[in-house]
Amino acid sequence: MDDDSLKKLKYDEQRKKRVKRIKRTIIIVVMALIIIPIIMCIFLAIRVKSLQEQIDFLYEARYTDIMNARYEKRVNGGTDSLEYLSEKEDEAEVKGTVEQTSNEAPDEGTEGIHKIYLTFDDGPSENTAQILDILKEYDIKATFFVVGKEGEEYEQLYKRIVDEGHTLGMHSYSHQYSSVYNSLDTFKEDFHKIQDLLYNVTGYKPMIYRFPGGSNNKVSNTDVKELIEFLKSEGVEYYDWNASNGDAASKEYTVQELINNVVTSISDDKNQSIVLMHDTNTKGKTVEALGPVIDKLKEMGLSILPIGSDTEPIHLLKTDE
Ligand SMILES: [Zn+2]
Repeated sequence: MDDDSLKKLKYDEQRKKRVKRIKRTIIIVVMALIIIPIIMCIFLAIRVKSLQEQIDFLYEARYTDIMNARYEKRVNGGTDSLEYLSEKEDEAEVKGTVEQTSNEAPDEGTEGIHKIYLTFDDGPSENTAQILDILKEYDIKATFFVVGKEGEEYEQLYKRIVDEGHTLGMHSYSHQYSSVYNSLDTFKEDFHKIQDLLYNVTGYKPMIYRFPGGSNNKVSNTDVKELIEFLKSEGVEYYDWNASNGDAASKEYTVQELINNVVTSISDDKNQSIVLMHDTNTKGKTVEALGPVIDKLKEMGLSILPIGSDTEPIHLLKTDE
């Protein structure tokens, strides 16, 4: 082999290597161009989901803030409410019941015992068992507006709610405003999913519903009146609330404040109060406040009941306008 052909061979080899290197680089770049967007999409999807959850949470928080501001204004601004409360308590001690006094009451007076319905939204959670234990200890029946959770431990909790005499209500399956309220069809689908789940697990077909965010929410893409019509066609009644312990507010209340919030908010309505509370993993203080809240309500001579078919509903959305 002469020098020239040796050089050529060497050159060819180098060229081949170079081409190989370029090929490899191109493959890596193409792979990266495919994989990076996929990873970013996954990341964004997770991020959107968590943001949506935060929006849902903040929406409920904002609503509770408005309610609380109203109560605080009434307590601090108008002295009537506080005087009314303490008088009502004194009276309750004597009579064992609470009645309206015409001049102290902000609204028109009615007779009879003020009925209290304690309601827990968003469960089951890590706190449900403890809430049920407390209710059992106090021999109180409440109402649970639950969402859809799969798994043995949640099934046990749905069953306990029914077995221990509480009212099991629906609060949507997914509690995701974007999907529940996307259209009448998605609402129907979600409704049947939660009703079927609860029926299959407990053998009890729940017939009451609480709209996520309330019936007067401003997030629904669909006219809530249509959704109400659908519930009606299913023989289902919906219940909003007219009192709250404020546990969904962005401000985190102390246990004592949660107790006070209930007492303050129930003075709003004289016939009955449907008290909104939450059964979620982060609401430990609601659990702590529950026993004292019941003590306080009993002290006031109020009767605490689970929502039943004869319970007058509270509707926040005005449908007859
Ligand atoms: Zn909720």
